[in-house]
Amino acid sequence: MAEKKKSGKKSKELELAAEFPNLYKTAGKAEISAAMDFAEDYKAFLDISKTEREFVKNSIEAARELGFVDIEHKKTLKAGDKVYKSVKGKGLALAVIGVEPCENGFNILGAHVDSPRLDLKPNPLYEDNETVYFKTHYYGGIKKYQWTTIPLALHGVVYTAGGNEVEVCVGEDPSDPVFYITDLLIHLGNEQMGKKASEVVTGEDLNLVIGGIPVDDKDVKDPYKAAVLKILNDKYGIVEKDFVSAELEVVPADKARDVGFDRAYIAAYGHDDKVCAYPALMSLFSQEKPKRTCVTILTDKEEIGSYANSGAQSAIYENFLMELLAKNSGGIDKFNMLVFRKAMENTKMLSTDVTSAYDPKYASVYEARNTAYMSRGLKIEKYTGARGKSGSSEANGDFVAKITEILKENSIPWQTGELGKIDVGGGGTISAYMAKSGMDVLDMGIPVWSMHAPIEVISKIDLYYLYLAYKAFIENMR
Ligand code: MN
Ligand code: MN
Repeated sequence: MAEKKKSGKKSKELELAAEFPNLYKTAGKAEISAAMDFAEDYKAFLDISKTEREFVKNSIEAARELGFVDIEHKKTLKAGDKVYKSVKGKGLALAVIGVEPCENGFNILGAHVDSPRLDLKPNPLYEDNETVYFKTHYYGGIKKYQWTTIPLALHGVVYTAGGNEVEVCVGEDPSDPVFYITDLLIHLGNEQMGKKASEVVTGEDLNLVIGGIPVDDKDVKDPYKAAVLKILNDKYGIVEKDFVSAELEVVPADKARDVGFDRAYIAAYGHDDKVCAYPALMSLFSQEKPKRTCVTILTDKEEIGSYANSGAQSAIYENFLMELLAKNSGGIDKFNMLVFRKAMENTKMLSTDVTSAYDPKYASVYEARNTAYMSRGLKIEKYTGARGKSGSSEANGDFVAKITEILKENSIPWQTGELGKIDVGGGGTISAYMAKSGMDVLDMGIPVWSMHAPIEVISKIDLYYLYLAYKAFIENMR
């Protein structure tokens, strides 16, 4: 007995039992330092990539620097070639061609780059009591009251009737103004405080303060609104009707910040799901000539059902895989549908999305043995869904075992569990849409505190091991 203790070996009984330790406790100094460095790069990328459009644009820019080219420009593809396809500027698919032919299947990482936010309504601008507002319509699942009394920024594009594409980004530069949604003062909030949290602030209350100085003209009907329209026209060349063809998103104006004296965590807008999209992108960028063709897919519209031609249900992502296979087989005239379908059956994918982190304050919604804990690493989520696994794309057990084997071989710790207690609620990811084609898909991401809040929190050590896991998966899965 004493000898075993000396060697630090666990007893047979302990070796059999599963352990999910805190990784800040078990990691060496070098790993923690590498995690801190990786987090710096992530924060810098996140600060300039708050919307799906910005994430896609910055990803393409980074990819081009590494030699990726638009797949349109390639007639054939050979091992080591790097290509990408923009999906309407809001989604992205990238690949590094492997040594094995694409007909053997792909290794795919799939994340989403849209995050909950407030979108402008198609006719958003109005004046009320000498103040000018934008009407918004929230996008994705939010607690509406969380979006009041915080500095907000406006990001997006306006397509004018004249055919111009105008980019807008206001509220990020320290010299920029920000926008704001008011809340009722506590002194008069007695009745409001008695309301259900879902009714404290309604969808129609999420009106953004955008101006308060009128034009100097007594004949103008809405002088305050007219003044804002003039500013918008001077700066962007847009008129009020152009809002109908605008895609303008309201997001928190804050930058990503470290949390804690020890800087263990990061607070930022949009960790869901950019905290998975970023390592999915970086692990692909680390490939030069992989065994199997490696693909990273960054989709849009996940938060509202993965519809639209930029969402995961769009054929464009599948078209990209078809094009990879065709061009790797000698050209698009060599394409064979059955060969493609079989390649899909042999394709392996990680649906890379975040999960909830256990929060002791809200312990009652979690099942403590089956939940993810902050800083205990990535979570293997065999199934998602709600109340009886409804809507879940459950991964096959043999596929899960292959992945845990790869993680073991690469000394990457992991944890597992469900989102929360069975009857409390649930959620889904893009895995179900991808699995339709016959590929094996498993959900793997890291835990987040306050998911879908304007500012969410993740652990740096989780992010780092997630990157290592994605890299190990695309390099070793077959
Ligand atoms: Mn997500
Ligand atoms: Mn989400």
